[in-house]
Amino acid sequence: MKMKILSVLAGVAAAAGCTFSGPKAENVSCGVTGGGTAEISKAIPPVSGTGGLRRPGPARVMVIGAHPDDADIFCGGLALRLIDRGFKVKFVSMTDGRMGHHIYSPDETAKVRRRETLEAARRMELDGYDIYGYPDCGLFPTDEARKNVARKIREYQPDYIITHRTCDYHADHRATGQLVTDACYLLGVPHWCPEVPAQRHRPVIFYMTDAFTNPRPIRPDLMFDVDNYIERLCDGLDAQGSQIYEWLPWDSDREKTVAALGDRSDIKTRNEYINRYTFGRKRADAKRFAEVWKERNPNLPLPKNLEVYEISEYGRRPSKAELKFLRE
Ligand SMILES: [Zn+2]
Repeated sequence: MKMKILSVLAGVAAAAGCTFSGPKAENVSCGVTGGGTAEISKAIPPVSGTGGLRRPGPARVMVIGAHPDDADIFCGGLALRLIDRGFKVKFVSMTDGRMGHHIYSPDETAKVRRRETLEAARRMELDGYDIYGYPDCGLFPTDEARKNVARKIREYQPDYIITHRTCDYHADHRATGQLVTDACYLLGVPHWCPEVPAQRHRPVIFYMTDAFTNPRPIRPDLMFDVDNYIERLCDGLDAQGSQIYEWLPWDSDREKTVAALGDRSDIKTRNEYINRYTFGRKRADAKRFAEVWKERNPNLPLPKNLEVYEISEYGRRPSKAELKFLRE
C-alpha cells in the first residue's frame, strides 16, 4: 500500500516538477520525493574529516551513464535499495540516446527516450533523471563537456557518484568515465568554473561492473545482493519500451523472443522477459564472484543477482565506517 501511495505522489511530482532547459546540453529533470523522517535520518553517511563541508541532509547518489538506460540496467538494484533507506538517487545520461533505434529517426528516438526516462524515474521514485543531451555515439572528453559535468555535479552535491570504467566497450561509456574522473579533483577548485561554487566535500566515485579484462577485470570492492529489487527494477525498465522490447532485441539478434510477449498487455510476462534478457551481467557476476561473496558473507546465501562496484582512486576515499554504512 505504501508503494501505491508513493507512486501516486510521485506521479503528481513528475507532472509538476519536470523542467526542460538548456540550448546545447539539454537538461531534462524530474523531481520525485519520498522516504520518511526515520529513513532519512538513517541515510546520513558517517563522513569523517570533512567537518562542516558536507551539505546537510540525506546521502545523495548520482549515477552518470552514457545512455538513457545505462544507470537503470547496471545500477538499478542498488539504486532501489538505497532509495528504500532514504538516500536521494539521481540518474544521468550524458547523451540523448538518439542512435538507439533501428526504425525511428534519430530525432524521434531522442524524443521517445526522453519521455521514457521520465516515466522510469517516476516508477523508481528517483530524485530525477537528467539527460545532458550530447549526441549519442558522439561524446568526447572535451574541456566543454568536462566543465558541464562538473557544474551539474556541483549543483547536486552528491556524496557518491557511480559511472563507467574507462575500458568499457562503448566509446560513449569510456568518454563518460573519463569526464567524471577528470572532473573529480577540479570540483573543489574555486577559480575553475567559478559560476557554480566549488564542492569542498568531494564525492566517492564507484565504477559500475563490466566484463572487460584489459587492462584488468573490475575489482569487487562492494557487492550488493539485489534479488529483492529485481521485480521493481523490471517495472522501471518496462517504461523504456523502445529499448527493452525493440532496440536491444534487434541489436542482439533476438527479435523472435519479443513475439512471445504477444500484445505486451501482461505485466507478469513482460517482467519475466526483462528479467531473463536484461540482467545477465548481475547473474554472471553472482557466479564470477561467488567465492568472494562467501568469504565476506559466510552466513548469507549466495544471491542470484549481484551488483558489483569498484572504488575509484580519483574520488574521495571512504572510511571503513562509511563503507559499512553503504553495505547496510
Ligand atoms: Zn550505454
